[in-house]
Amino acid sequence: MMPENTVRVRFAPSPTGGLHLGGVRTVLFNYLFARHHNGKFVLRIEDTDQNRYVDGAEDYILECLQWCGLLPDESPLAGGPFAPYRQSERKSLYREYAEKLVAQGNAYYAFDTPAELEQKRKDEPNFQYGHSQRYTLRNSLTLSEAELNRLLDAGTPHVIRIKMPVDETIGFTDMIRGEVSFDTNLVDDKVLLKADGMPTYHLAVVVDDYLMQISHAFRGEEWLPSAPVHLLLWEYLGWKAQMPQWAHLPLILKPDGHGKLSKRDGSRLGFPVYAMNWFDPQTRELTPGFRELGFLPGAFINLLAMLGWNDGTDQELFTLDELIAKFSIDRVSKAGAKFDFEKAKWFNAEWLKRLPVEKLLPEVEALLDEKDIEFKEDYVRQVLPLVQERLVFINDFWPQASFFFERPAEYDLNAVKPKWTAAKTEFFKLIVEQYAGLDQWPPQALEDAFKTLMTEKGFKPGDVMLPFRVMLVGGKFGPHVYDIAALLGKEETIARIHQFLAAVDA
Ligand code: GLU
Repeated sequence: MMPENTVRVRFAPSPTGGLHLGGVRTVLFNYLFARHHNGKFVLRIEDTDQNRYVDGAEDYILECLQWCGLLPDESPLAGGPFAPYRQSERKSLYREYAEKLVAQGNAYYAFDTPAELEQKRKDEPNFQYGHSQRYTLRNSLTLSEAELNRLLDAGTPHVIRIKMPVDETIGFTDMIRGEVSFDTNLVDDKVLLKADGMPTYHLAVVVDDYLMQISHAFRGEEWLPSAPVHLLLWEYLGWKAQMPQWAHLPLILKPDGHGKLSKRDGSRLGFPVYAMNWFDPQTRELTPGFRELGFLPGAFINLLAMLGWNDGTDQELFTLDELIAKFSIDRVSKAGAKFDFEKAKWFNAEWLKRLPVEKLLPEVEALLDEKDIEFKEDYVRQVLPLVQERLVFINDFWPQASFFFERPAEYDLNAVKPKWTAAKTEFFKLIVEQYAGLDQWPPQALEDAFKTLMTEKGFKPGDVMLPFRVMLVGGKFGPHVYDIAALLGKEETIARIHQFLAAVDA
């Protein structure tokens, strides 16, 4: 077993756009594993595919990690002993390994031009640059030595491809899936080094995992088909003993369980799939994010952890510290995890309920400022616990609590008017008199006075309590009605009763 202090994991995104839920969950599992084992969490930017590079994507990733509180120990920003952490800045390093593979006979130069390959693909729809075709193409396996040297000396553009072995079965033990094996005949001769000298993902990921001494590599299941190429590279480069332990994380599935959750599913079903808003500078399309919708980072992390992991009990709410203490890869399931947005909202609501008022206060004050509402901080401090458990998002504060700050502009008269009687008007006039005479204004005193009069006049709670709520709130919702009245104060409560009576009798 590896000593605890050698755990080094990495998140290795390509900066091609916003971060999907699945990407952040990969970050999270890496982070939790590293922290659990007192190891290091590395962020490596895999930007060798210049065609897919998107401006702003790297900053987005860094900001996202910051928002989630999953900060790497080593990264392009933080630096570290294995810098640089951006693959484009490591360009010069990869060629020697590709050349070594060529010298060993595990890779070869290929001179086919993009146009030639395109033509090939047109002529043969199932064309694969692999063991069955490689001897019919323009590469160092087919060219004479003299011709090859001539092309190389002339600086003819070429790539380096891996030479996949024929009729072999290769495999590894995945930490989640167990034994996984591949038929080498089904894998094409992937490009390792491109004509511009940039490595492809396949070469760079292996070289960097080796050079950065990565002990465990966790990535999405979609990378499993690439594993045979990587396995062979580890072997051919003589590094097999240092190969990280791999875990391919299960997919996050559409709510109906059919297929991978995509960005398009989000817009189709009306929920975010990205961590934060992503504005694509090329398409000018804005993809909404969990952060902007009002998710708390703690809740977001919590719900992601539960997509494919549990601690073996029914517990669903975990703080980051609890996750660090309890996380283990062997409790990550092989099966894809269905994404359920209602459940995601439940997580946020539960997190909001548990948040100390002092933490919510600044957010709510900002909301009130935005609406130009004047308030006293201490008043907001008293309102918050009354509505906190009704919030799914912080932004729900206003619809749930506006009546604490403003008199209802209109009433849900349908709820009361059909059953309104002169006796009820009389009842509320008497309540006003009684309330006006109270020296103290605690909820209990209001409730006692109300209920005594209600019994005396032969009303049932439904007859007068619901109208009382509508008078104070405007509608049939909100916390305990006497708590509302107590907080509004005597004068305001009485004023609202009067205002309502005028409206209902009109
Ligand atoms: N650069 C790959 C990505 O964009 C990383 C895959 C891996 O972790 O090996 O996800």
